[in-house]
Amino acid sequence: MTQSDDVDPDLPSQDKAKEFYAKYEPKEVLGKGVSSTVRRCVEKTSGTEYAVKIIDISGEKGEEHQVEQLRRDTSREINILRMCAGHPHIIELHDVFETPTFIFLVFELCKKGELFDYLTEVVSMSEKRTRIIMTQLLDAVEYIHSKNIVHRDLKPENILLDDNLNVKLSDFGFATVLAPAEELSELCGTPGYLAPEVLAVSMYDNVPGYGKEVDMWACGVIMYTLLCGSPPFWHRKQMMMLRAIMQGNYHFNSPEWDDITEPPKELISKLLVVNPSQRFTAKETLAHPFFKREFVPIKKFHARRTFRAAILCTRFFFRLRHFYENPPPISLDVVTTNPYSVKLFRKLIDGCAFGMYGHWVKKGDNQNRAALFEHSLRDDWKNDVKL
Ligand code: ADP
Ligand code: MG
Repeated sequence: MTQSDDVDPDLPSQDKAKEFYAKYEPKEVLGKGVSSTVRRCVEKTSGTEYAVKIIDISGEKGEEHQVEQLRRDTSREINILRMCAGHPHIIELHDVFETPTFIFLVFELCKKGELFDYLTEVVSMSEKRTRIIMTQLLDAVEYIHSKNIVHRDLKPENILLDDNLNVKLSDFGFATVLAPAEELSELCGTPGYLAPEVLAVSMYDNVPGYGKEVDMWACGVIMYTLLCGSPPFWHRKQMMMLRAIMQGNYHFNSPEWDDITEPPKELISKLLVVNPSQRFTAKETLAHPFFKREFVPIKKFHARRTFRAAILCTRFFFRLRHFYENPPPISLDVVTTNPYSVKLFRKLIDGCAFGMYGHWVKKGDNQNRAALFEHSLRDDWKNDVKL
């Protein structure tokens, strides 16, 4: 039985997707969404591994208008993915198949999975690792924004990692292309990452719509979460969380933030700005000192403390050398009563014992070591040694 024949009911039958099955062998599930399942698959001719997102448009899981909407959203997702093709930090769409009941999107495979899982494993990231991840993410965000694309669902679950832990921005399911001066008003995304203006537009009348800045807010939430391991806006009660977002109410709590330097904190405070027009753009964010290569966290220099530590180190090494060159004298009492306690004698005694009894230990035969404790002499020594 191949894995394509397994019992998973989500896997479309062979006759419903002949073209896909002719080229690819589907394997295990990598992730699941509301109306899609992502599986690893192997291209039959080349043996190359990919990830296939299988979207169910059969209508069995929803009303006709919902299915129509899903079909339109998927075609928008495909268009956007094609607009972004070739960027090193955006997931590559390799192939597309469409049948009346399923759409198959074949992507490059990100073997290391979601940044979310990686973060769960490591709990939080160093400033250096955060800098690498955020540079790559912002590079992708700057690129899509230059094409007037808004992602609208930036979060660690949608940031995938390849074999070398390089970022691949994925899941363009909510992404859209902005027309000039267009403002959006749809409420979409994931609660903890929603920008205040997205909430405002769905809560109040007569407020302006939102634009690309929502992605920069999400970048601020992601960067905060990477550095300390927990999100900036979180509350058991979702209403309280949404209120904190609307007010931009977050803190660099102790002790998680105690050892983190000022530049990343300062940068986060430029991203988690309630007013979108004052929020940093992707370009401004990448130009921040946190991302400068030559940036070295500045630690306060204490001349007296450093001098004292240097003296202590020097004294320690001088003492160590003195003891090495002048070992303490061994007393006659110790030599006569307990010579085995002195390393020098111990080596000598063991050497002599092995010379006398070592021939019982066959090379490579550890079980015969017990023979070491027998009390008869080597045959060729019997005549020379008198006990
Ligand atoms: P949804 O719109 O349902 O969230 P995604 O495109 O985000 O769909 O895919 C769902 C999950 O499938 C991802 O969070 C990830 O775990 C996995 N996945 C998606 N694409 C890939 C890929 N190219 N390589 C590895 N895993 C992937
Ligand atoms: Mg997703």
